[in-house]
Amino acid sequence: MREQSRAREARESREFGDSRELRDGREDGRRGRRRGCAFCGDDAPSIDYKDPHGLGYFVTDRGKIVPRRISGNCAKHQREVGVAIKRARSIALLPFTSN
Ligand SMILES: [Zn+2]
Repeated sequence: MREQSRAREARESREFGDSRELRDGREDGRRGRRRGCAFCGDDAPSIDYKDPHGLGYFVTDRGKIVPRRISGNCAKHQREVGVAIKRARSIALLPFTSN
């Protein structure tokens, strides 16, 4: 009885771990190389609301701000990107939405 439930727990936790690793694209060895924040580091570009091409990478084709779990930015820089995108929208450098 106890052995059985413990074995089931182990199997479930293993499956959970597998699916997480698969979603990360790391364990299969093909899509590895998890990029960190684009604006952290020494040779990082500055976040400029007057530069729609630089910000364009962080906007979906529908005009939405790409979430942090996708963009890979750290909290600080994702926040700055969000503010910059909103500023750029207000002066019509970026769209609020696509049609
Ligand atoms: Zn950062």
